[in-house]
Amino acid sequence: MDLAALRLRPGEGRRIETEVDVDDVSFGGQTYSLDPRTVDVILDISRLSGDGYALRLRTSSTLRGPCMRCLDDASVGVEVDAREVDQPGGGDELSSPYVTDEKLDVAAWTRDAILLALPQQVLCREDCAGLCPVCGENLNDAGPEHTHERAPDPRWDKLSELKFD
Ligand SMILES: [Zn+2]
Ligand SMILES: [Zn+2]
Repeated sequence: MDLAALRLRPGEGRRIETEVDVDDVSFGGQTYSLDPRTVDVILDISRLSGDGYALRLRTSSTLRGPCMRCLDDASVGVEVDAREVDQPGGGDELSSPYVTDEKLDVAAWTRDAILLALPQQVLCREDCAGLCPVCGENLNDAGPEHTHERAPDPRWDKLSELKFD
């Protein structure tokens, strides 16, 4: 997006609504996709009173993929509200990686901002019980009464091998 083409005067701002396609995301060893894959993006672009721009990006979507505990379908909402400032000569702090020669890379910023907004875990539900570590059954379906006989303690094998005269 060409910021210069907006011809904003210092202190002036503009809101622009656009759409960005977001590729699948690899996260925690699994692949997740956004639903919808094409997200609506609201950009607020303000020309600073000196040189440069203050930018705000907002979008929301839903991330869908396998639950990280039980592998069932899971989805989690993603809300993004990100800001960048790009002020030539302002040093690293005031230089946005998404702005080059007054061109804003909306797609790259949207994708990075979504990645930063992802939760720590994607779960089918907050208290997902996961899979049984012994047999792999889904414990959400099996319920808390799902148990296994304790594996025999190997020390007892040794004892049973002892022969008493
Ligand atoms: Zn789960
Ligand atoms: Zn089991």
